[in-house]
Amino acid sequence: MSNSTEFEKQLQVLRDAYIESLPEKIRQLNIAWENLEKNWRVENLRELYRHAHSLAGSGATFGFSDLSAAAREGELFLQGLLENPALPSRAQAAQVQALVAEIENCAHKTDPELKTPLPTILTPTPVQNPVPRNRGVYLIEGDPALGNLLARQINPFGYIVRAINAVDAVKPASTEAPEAIILDSTIAATQAAGLEILNRIQAAHADPLPLIVLAARGDFPDRLQAARLGARAYFTKPIEINALVEYLDLLTSHAAPEPYRILIIEDDPNLAHQNALILQKAGMITRIVTDPMQMTGELIDFNPGLILMDLYMPSASGLELAAVIRQQEAFISIPIVFLSAVNNPDIQLAAMRLGADDFLAKPIGPDQLVSSVSTRAQRYNTMRYFMTRDSLTGLLNHTATEERLEIEVARARRLKSQLAHVIIDLDHFKMVNDTYGHPVGDRVLKSLARLLEQRFRKADAIGRYGGEEFGLILPDTDGPTAVRILDELRVAFGQIRHQAEDADFSVTFSAGIAAFPPYADAVKLNDRADKALYLAKNRGRNQVALAG
Ligand code: GH3
Ligand code: MG
Ligand code: MG
Ligand code: MG
Repeated sequence: MSNSTEFEKQLQVLRDAYIESLPEKIRQLNIAWENLEKNWRVENLRELYRHAHSLAGSGATFGFSDLSAAAREGELFLQGLLENPALPSRAQAAQVQALVAEIENCAHKTDPELKTPLPTILTPTPVQNPVPRNRGVYLIEGDPALGNLLARQINPFGYIVRAINAVDAVKPASTEAPEAIILDSTIAATQAAGLEILNRIQAAHADPLPLIVLAARGDFPDRLQAARLGARAYFTKPIEINALVEYLDLLTSHAAPEPYRILIIEDDPNLAHQNALILQKAGMITRIVTDPMQMTGELIDFNPGLILMDLYMPSASGLELAAVIRQQEAFISIPIVFLSAVNNPDIQLAAMRLGADDFLAKPIGPDQLVSSVSTRAQRYNTMRYFMTRDSLTGLLNHTATEERLEIEVARARRLKSQLAHVIIDLDHFKMVNDTYGHPVGDRVLKSLARLLEQRFRKADAIGRYGGEEFGLILPDTDGPTAVRILDELRVAFGQIRHQAEDADFSVTFSAGIAAFPPYADAVKLNDRADKALYLAKNRGRNQVALAG
């Protein structure tokens, strides 16, 4: 039996098992709904969400596309409710019921034609994996040595370069097909095969893949030829790898921009919910605080980009809360938009003194709410970006990294979770500068910065402490896990070949790690990570050490 039919057989077995388990899954879903209906508690809501989420993720793989779609819709709706854990309106509860019914209904509808499920179902991705999947890139290159060098330089940044030098090596597009093509213009100019390979690859894809051309000359006829082939970018040799990788990232990144995070402080749950829904519809993420005593905790946990503040609340006024927020260094510039039913200039003046960014009258139209909130959140984002970034690498600067460490430690303490703090220092970096010059040294710093951005999760903080020293804060990560991740990164970084004028060379780093717990605050974490780094240097560099 060939491998592929063996594979299909395994899939069929899985599919049969899935179909057999489906009635029980639906029964569980209905039970979760009944429990929620009887007792609207966040745990019950979460349980129902979990069932919908799991059906959404699995259905289509086994030939139940409608089921997946219905469950996805339910999942999204429940997620919205989970973000605002207040009692639902009658209409919302009815909608949940309808969504559950629709999911059940779709569990009887199989797809007319079973598409081959993706093999990924056989190897579920681990949850705790900060490393994004590698992205494929075709390389059409006449000179194997150059191809090899390029692959060695690009691969550590999360790519897999597949060199194709023969026409018949082009296979039909598969699910793991590369996402971009790099073409050496010399092979295209001198060998018909180069163009033929390019055409075949493009013919195998419904939409042409983005094309990058590498050229030796950079003269007009060559550029014109590249443009005619559909090149989006044109690099001349020697190739500046950071720029090439940056461009590849741009071409292959499917990430949507971060949505704005809005904290709604409002004692009336219905009103809060309504405003939350309006903002969510406009693509924002919201969280509601109805009890002002919970405010500080939510500021830390949720890390909002703007606060929408009710003026009148029974236990503390909006003005008082704004004053409390402004007392805290980390929240001194976060925009606050006040919502109020009264139009009293004295109160507005007092609010403005506390740094209110806008004053909106209740009731407020959806468009006005969205536009006021989004323009202010956007301006704050931009300002925060420039205030917190290191100009050479674009990473968090020293102050911002330290601030993040404080915030993340506070969060980990509240959630009783863990965190790892890492300090990275390049080895013998003075020698790199002395040998190849300061600008080349700067490029090395940038390449490490890019690698860090590639390898870490959104939730991780990545900063440059200054010089050739970097700091990482990894939430929900224990010491040994951090050691494993950093060690992989250390190896990947050591494999990058950096270009100097007429040499290429590699650089290594050492890292010190301290974890919370046992180290209980930011000062200790910094101190212990630093000591661990010192240890790694003393033990011979190019290694990772964990404190304690
Ligand atoms: P060790 O392995 O002990 O860390 O040795 P090292 O040479 O890396 O450490 P040392 O602290 O002696 O030197 C750090 C060097 O980093 C000094 C300076 O030339 C270089 N450096 C600091 N900031 C920058 C920068 O912004 N750009 C460049 N190119 N080099 C920098
Ligand atoms: Mg109120
Ligand atoms: Mg140093
Ligand atoms: Mg150093």
